[in-house]
Amino acid sequence: MADDCIFCMIIAGTIPADIVDQSENTIAFRDINPKAPIHVLVVPKVHLPDIASLATVEPAIAAELLAMTRKVAKAEGFEDYNLVFNTGAAAGQTVFHAHGHVLGGVGASKLFLA
Ligand code: 5GP
Ligand code: ZN
Repeated sequence: MADDCIFCMIIAGTIPADIVDQSENTIAFRDINPKAPIHVLVVPKVHLPDIASLATVEPAIAAELLAMTRKVAKAEGFEDYNLVFNTGAAAGQTVFHAHGHVLGGVGASKLFLA
């Protein structure tokens, strides 16, 4: 838990979010500013700054998170989906708590999420 992290606050329940699913170590909630017909963030409950850090420090949780992306997409009606991990400010990352964007209904379009 990082005191100034918006996703840690959602995980702790101190600010609301539209939660669509959870597993032991991950949580999935709708992006507040959706960029696709479905846009869900899949987030580890542990605070680490980005997906590569998660994969290094907690590889089993990184795998759990990846499995959760497919579960969420399927539950939203999408067998096929885009999965985006903005990593670093210059790449458009604005929340420095690891998260994957699960995007459904975008097709093969080139994605710009920043
Ligand atoms: P990033 O730019 O770091 O890859 O993605 C951060 C995402 O978090 C953005 O798409 C943004 O819309 C979303 N976001 C930021 N603050 C909140 C919030 O308080 N609640 C929810 N549900 N999403 C948020
Ligand atoms: Zn956090």
